[in-house]
Order: sequence, then structure tokens, then C-alpha cells
Amino acid sequence: MSEISIDNQSLYFKLSSRYYSDESESLELTFKCLVSPNYTANFNNKNLKLAYNPNSKIMFVGHYAAALALKGKEKGASLGMLFIATQFVDILFFPFVLAGIEKLSFVKGFTAVNDFNMDYYPFTHGLLASLMWSGLFFMLYYFVFSKNKTNKKSIAIVMALAILSHWFTDLIVHTPDLPLVNGEPKFGFGLWNNKVLTFVAEAVLLILGLWYYLKKTKAISKVGKYAALVFVLFLLLINYLNLFVLPANDDIKSLTISALVFYFLFAGIVEYVGRKRV
Ligand SMILES: [Zn+2]
Repeated sequence: MSEISIDNQSLYFKLSSRYYSDESESLELTFKCLVSPNYTANFNNKNLKLAYNPNSKIMFVGHYAAALALKGKEKGASLGMLFIATQFVDILFFPFVLAGIEKLSFVKGFTAVNDFNMDYYPFTHGLLASLMWSGLFFMLYYFVFSKNKTNKKSIAIVMALAILSHWFTDLIVHTPDLPLVNGEPKFGFGLWNNKVLTFVAEAVLLILGLWYYLKKTKAISKVGKYAALVFVLFLLLINYLNLFVLPANDDIKSLTISALVFYFLFAGIVEYVGRKRV
């Protein structure tokens, strides 16, 4: 190599003719093996460009397994609101980061799935805080939203459990960053260190949730017969694209907006789907 230059997140190698041959493809592959999978190598006219691909993915579809299972348990609860509830602490987390209340930093290659280091988020992802949000949802559903329903207690319980489920689902994939209250000890089994295992684990959870939901509910129309299955397949496809295909970004503002848009969009769609089964 005769020249090396760096531009933003890419590293360029100008190859001297000594190293250059027609076997550019195998050369490219060799370089690919030498660098982390977070880099892509492009060989073009004696120039080898190594570009860093930021990874900013979040766990999301796995959380919906709990929402589906809880809807199977208490049919009086809104499936759309259960979807919101299972993501509730993440819905708070991103705006909290933007407001400077909690902290997220980007560390290249932090896990195989993303470049996040969630340094400080006790108010949304502490177990104690999760229990408090969960208690708040119980009260809201028991005393306000479902107060005139005969099954208000059971609805309030499943809504509260949906909030709490987030911490335990995050526990599977996060590296040890989930606190009990604040600071050490922190927990996380670290499945994010393996992209394929992350996808498989989320898919298995979601399919189990769907299976229980379908078992416990009955379709009231033709749409109701297949809509939930189609929607879950759609979520799996989105997650596949999210993990393996779509480019990520490391801008916290646009990440926040896209996360919130998806959370509410999915909740809206699934509310429609949920009304087709009783
Ligand atoms: Zn989370």
C-alpha cells in the first residue's frame, strides 16, 4: 500500500501496482476478513475503500410477544394499548435522552446489533422504575380508563404486566446495563452480541405470543382469521430488514422520531387486527 487516507468514516488505501492484480475480488475478500464485519470493503480502480457502517438497531418486535399473550389472557384489554404499554419505557427513553435526563452514547461495535451504550437510564429501565410505571398504569386503568367495566381489575393487571414485561424482555438481549434501581448491579444476558441469535430469539418469542393469542381468541370475520398471523409475519420481515438490510443511523434525533413513529403505527394497525377477534 502506498497511500492511506481517511475521510469521515471511511478509510482509503491506494494500492501500489506491486499489490494490484486482476484478482481484485479476492483481494477485496481478504480485506473483508481482516476487518470487523461492521466495515464494508469496496475495491475500485486501485483504491480500496473501507467504510464503517453504523449499527443503531433497537430490540422491538420481541416485546410484542408479551402484548399478544396478555391479550389472550384478558380479551377486554386493547391490543393497541398493550403494544404501547410493552414499549412504554422505550417511548419515554428516547425523548429523555434528547432532554438530557438519561444518557445514550454511540460506541462503534458496542454489540453486533447496535452501537449503543446505554450508560444511564434508571428512570425508564431500572427495575424499580419499571415497577412504578407499571403501578401507574394499573391505577390509570383501574380508576380511570376502565372504571365502569366489570373486568377492570383484570384489565389493569394485564396493562401493568405489559409495562413490566419490557424490562424482562430487554434482559435477554441487552449487555449488562439494566439496573435494579440505579448503578450497579446491572443485568443483561447480551444476546445482542450475536445478530442471528437476536433475530431468532425475537422470532421465537413473537411466534409463541401469537400462538397463545390465537388459541385463546376466536375470529369474528374472515379478516380476523388471518390478520394476526399476517401482521406477525410483517413484524418479522421488518425486524429482518432492520437487523440485516436497512442502513442504520447514529443521529439520536432521527432515531427517536423513527422509533416513535413505528411504535404508534404498529399499535394502530394491531388495534384494528385485535378487533377482528374476540
Ligand atoms: Zn428498552
